[in-house]
Amino acid sequence: MIIGGIQKNSLIDFPAKISCVIFTAGCNFDCPYCHNPELVDPPFTTINPEEIFAFLNKRKSLLDGVVITGGEPTLQKNLFDFCTQIKSMGFPIKLDTNGSHPDTVQNLIKNHLIDYIAMDVKTIPEKYIPLLAKNTKAETIRESILIIINSGIPHEFRTTCLKPFIDNDIIYEISRIIKGADLYVLQKGNLENTILHPEFFQNREWQVNATEMENFQKTASVFIKNTIIR
Ligand code: SF4
Repeated sequence: MIIGGIQKNSLIDFPAKISCVIFTAGCNFDCPYCHNPELVDPPFTTINPEEIFAFLNKRKSLLDGVVITGGEPTLQKNLFDFCTQIKSMGFPIKLDTNGSHPDTVQNLIKNHLIDYIAMDVKTIPEKYIPLLAKNTKAETIRESILIIINSGIPHEFRTTCLKPFIDNDIIYEISRIIKGADLYVLQKGNLENTILHPEFFQNREWQVNATEMENFQKTASVFIKNTIIR
């Protein structure tokens, strides 16, 4: 496991739980608006997993759960063992993923190693290349979505609402694909703080205004009752 950081307390990352958030380092996507560029490309500042386990041991009585996010956690070769160890300490796990490794997600679900899963659906799967990734397949993203919807564990899909990745037609299509999901979160996009590729947004219309967000919510609600703006 290459761990790039830890947030020791969070009230918002794992629904209804006080959690800590573990950030894995390395990502196979290239989202221009990524707010964690230090977790995308090496060199990384890393934390030894043993330090994480020692921390969790100390905080057993104070934390209700552990969030594993990234970067992209499913790139980590030891993710299965890492989750196994955290579960053996009694912590429920929430996994955040970009959906690029459906087999890994399936394996974790099958072995009851995750208790909540959140997947980003960044645009229509066919549009990931070249906007958001250099090397992924639309079928892979769609496969991850299906696995999660049929997983039987609580889950959510999330879309960061920035142009040109999103418009009303795209929200319609994403919502159709994730029909049956527990929860769909439309996240207000912003370019504050450091982002991966600021140059991408120069001379572009990228903002989505409040009225457009409300329209997206109405569009998505046709397919997913529980659609929220965050
Ligand atoms: S926002 Fe995109 S580039 Fe950044 S960590 Fe997530 S998937 Fe990777």
